[in-house]
Amino acid sequence: MKARVKLIEKCADVIMNSRPVLALTGAGISVESGIPDFRGKNGLWSIYDPAEYATIDAFRSNPEKVWKMFKDMDDLVFRAKPNMAHKCLAQLEKMGFLHYIITQNIDNLHQAGGSEKVIEYHGNSTTLSCLYCKNRYIRDEFDGQTPPVCVCGKILKPDVVLFGEAIPQEALELSIRLSVMAGALLVVGTSASVSPANYIPATAKQNGAKIIEINLERTHLTDSLTDIFIEGDAGDVMSGVVEAIKKRSSSN
Ligand code: NAD
Repeated sequence: MKARVKLIEKCADVIMNSRPVLALTGAGISVESGIPDFRGKNGLWSIYDPAEYATIDAFRSNPEKVWKMFKDMDDLVFRAKPNMAHKCLAQLEKMGFLHYIITQNIDNLHQAGGSEKVIEYHGNSTTLSCLYCKNRYIRDEFDGQTPPVCVCGKILKPDVVLFGEAIPQEALELSIRLSVMAGALLVVGTSASVSPANYIPATAKQNGAKIIEINLERTHLTDSLTDIFIEGDAGDVMSGVVEAIKKRSSSN
């Protein structure tokens, strides 16, 4: 326990003395909000193998089948509320200690938790596009109709990046620029196994950033790039970090 407190103190120290500070978040940060990550037992992904369902080729060849997965994901995402970890990152931004979040999640929970500087690396599930005529829609316009159909008659796709699709250009470019400049990078709740998001920690490290990793378990980054690894639930750890920063700020 003492060791963990020390790590949290160290983490607070790095955050307070680095600029800019970035966070790279993944599915793990939203697990406490009820959205399973890829690994969680009995989660969505034990029913829908991402390799079979979450690819652009799968969508193009059988959009009705892939919409079964989107529908189940939507049901979880639209019910979910931001948890302590989302709120703590938003608090850090308001206190001036966190400058950008790069999230791989498509669940909108960082924004719902109060964060403003959010790069949605894999898009967002609240809007839909037609792959054929390029029309765009808000998901709510369809009142749950599944699958939603474009005026041109084709089935619409949520604006989330499927395997085999490119990262939105603006998100990609800004993420690279920020990773190069970062003084510190918080890597929260991601296995860092999905490319190209998994290049962000290495880019930041090569350019001098301190890497702080918060995860329930060690990842391939832990022994190669990570400077401070704090094992635990993202919400618990992040509230410890925010408390430590508040204490230091009030004693200065
Ligand atoms: P991943 O499933 O590969 O890894 C999740 C990581 O989070 C694991 O390392 C796990 O140990 C950790 N974790 C789980 N619960 C945690 C907790 N409470 N606190 C701290 N850490 C916790 O997820 P990934 O690396 O984000 O890659 C999966 C891809 O799937 C991403 O591209 C993402 O876009 C997508 N995805 C998104 C959502 C979402 O939007 N909420 C959900 C599932 C998958």
